[in-house]
Amino acid sequence: MKVAFLGLGAIGFPMARRIAEAGHELSVWNRSPEKSAGLASKTSARVAATPADAASGASVVITCLPTSDEVEAVAFGPDGLASTLASGAILVDCTSGDPHESRSIANRLAEQGVDFLDAPVSGGVVGAEAGRLTVMCGGDAVVLERARPVLQAFGAKIILCGPTGAGHAIKALSNALLAIHLWSTGEALVAAAKAGVAPAIALDVINGSAGRSNSSENLIPQRVLTREFPSTFRLALLDKDVRIAESIARESGTPAEFIELAHKLFEWAHAELGDEVDHTAALRIIERQAGVVIEG
Ligand code: NDP
Repeated sequence: MKVAFLGLGAIGFPMARRIAEAGHELSVWNRSPEKSAGLASKTSARVAATPADAASGASVVITCLPTSDEVEAVAFGPDGLASTLASGAILVDCTSGDPHESRSIANRLAEQGVDFLDAPVSGGVVGAEAGRLTVMCGGDAVVLERARPVLQAFGAKIILCGPTGAGHAIKALSNALLAIHLWSTGEALVAAAKAGVAPAIALDVINGSAGRSNSSENLIPQRVLTREFPSTFRLALLDKDVRIAESIARESGTPAEFIELAHKLFEWAHAELGDEVDHTAALRIIERQAGVVIEG
């Protein structure tokens, strides 16, 4: 299939690479051209000069950008992909985006006969490299079936969640749970250390008990205890996800005390630690407040 991929960031790059390796005819565009050149040097992908150039002739165009704002700009701005997308093509937005903005983008594209799927992913960079991502889709079932051969290049679990925006909604809410698990496990580990239980031992107990989560089983042992904090999923992006989750809860009148608090805490950590650090670095804020380092 003729495919375009726009946004070769930490997760976009391995997703695009798998599409090329699956045998699709791929064009790539990235704001910084060296990443497109890097992918082209490893695969048969063609480097496109603009989003419009990438999308020209493609049946499926994938965007994987920080937020829906960048997707809208890349779609409808100067040399935007919408200017060359043919009727019958599909824009699949793998950004962890905003459901409102997705519906607006979908409506604009529908005017020119282009279909839209929101299709954010989960599973991290390692999952993308292995083709093991979960893809949560919002949109029409028939459109998803047309896009499925491309999504299968990087997704092991592809779920239709509901109408346009549903994928982005559940992604934001799921990542609000990640934020809550991460922060609360950090608090528990600091309190445990103060009670005389070393972080590695505390994690051993938690992971054999009901308090375990992906944060306690994987993220904290691999990234915090080692003090490596490799930046594969930026704190800025998790802050954005929790903000979207909070607005979804607020707009629907859902009582959501934990999500609101998670939004405040991650906004604070993001402001303190900056745009580039990994999301797990948020625990440095708890460490700083408590005077305890989670290491071991
Ligand atoms: P990165 O920050 O690593 O990459 C962002 C990408 O967007 C880069 O290609 C960057 O281009 C491009 N970009 C940034 N600003 C603009 C702009 N104004 N115009 C055009 N392109 C722009 O992000 P990730 O790859 O980590 O994340 C992408 C999306 O996937 C996000 O929504 C994130 O929440 C989600 N996600 C990420 C996961 C992860 O583990 N990293 C896991 C699951 C979802 P340039 O190279 O020029 O900077």
